[in-house]
Amino acid sequence: PTHESNAAHSAPHNPYAGAYPGNLFMVVAPSGAGKSTLVNALLARDPAIRLSISYTTRKPRPGEQDGQHYHFTTVEDFLERHGRGEFLESAEVHGNYYATSRLWIEQQMKSGHDVLLEIDWQGAQQVKKRFRNAVEIFILPPSLAALEERLKKRGQDEPNVITRRLLAAGSEIAHAAESEYVIINEHFERALAELQCVVDATRLRFASQYARHTQLFVELGIHLPHAE
Ligand code: GDP
Ligand code: ADP
Ligand code: 5GP
Repeated sequence: PTHESNAAHSAPHNPYAGAYPGNLFMVVAPSGAGKSTLVNALLARDPAIRLSISYTTRKPRPGEQDGQHYHFTTVEDFLERHGRGEFLESAEVHGNYYATSRLWIEQQMKSGHDVLLEIDWQGAQQVKKRFRNAVEIFILPPSLAALEERLKKRGQDEPNVITRRLLAAGSEIAHAAESEYVIINEHFERALAELQCVVDATRLRFASQYARHTQLFVELGIHLPHAE
């Protein structure tokens, strides 16, 4: 292969040809670790990130709006969509079904946006098979006692639901090792700054920068690694 200035356009040798400039983030945590609170704070200060709204068969909590927190749906509708291949990933978590819209994610990625998914570890495994550069960030509580206290303090789940989620926490946390980054959510502002840090660093990865600034890279004669 040559390293001429048009190397970027010689598709067979360019592993980045057609790559999307957008990044895909997955935030994973046991229930009550502070995932949604952290993600909402991140989105408020970084409006360039788009949040994926999941489908779920869980009943809405007080204050949860359809289409805003989740697309709330029935088991029947969920299974139909699943059968039509509408989901990028899906999983059963705490007795309910959850899934991510394939079409929405693909549209956002193609138009170069950064997207963020709040999903469980099973979903994260599935997404990584489709998007190899997806970045998984695991949120840990500072202790199991803190996790229990936060679930109770949130006060939005029935006691038996809280018990179920606490019992599941250990086996969810066991999957932290599959993630690229780990944030311990003890001091909220610090955890938020760390989350922003991961996002900022990811945006500076070679592949993302190349896709976003292809013309500059070509003009500067930046050589590409060989495709496998
Ligand atoms: P939370 O744990 O308090 O955030 O409670 P939720 O009921 O909102 O979420 C329950 C679980 O489902 C969490 O582990 C989420 O990460 C997971 N989850 C939410 N949306 C999705 C999704 O689209 N796909 C997958 N696989 N998991 C999801
Ligand atoms: P998740 O989405 O992971 O289930 P939430 O974001 O709903 O968790 O947070 C669970 C509860 O813990 C909420 O009441 C939230 O206000 C609280 N919380 C989140 N982060 C912290 C923190 N660093 N210190 C104390 N409480 C927190
Ligand atoms: P909750 O019911 O408390 O909103 O969420 C419970 C769990 O479901 C959380 O761990 C959350 O991350 C996960 N979850 C929410 N949406 C999705 C989704 O679209 N896909 C997957 N796999 N998990 C999800």
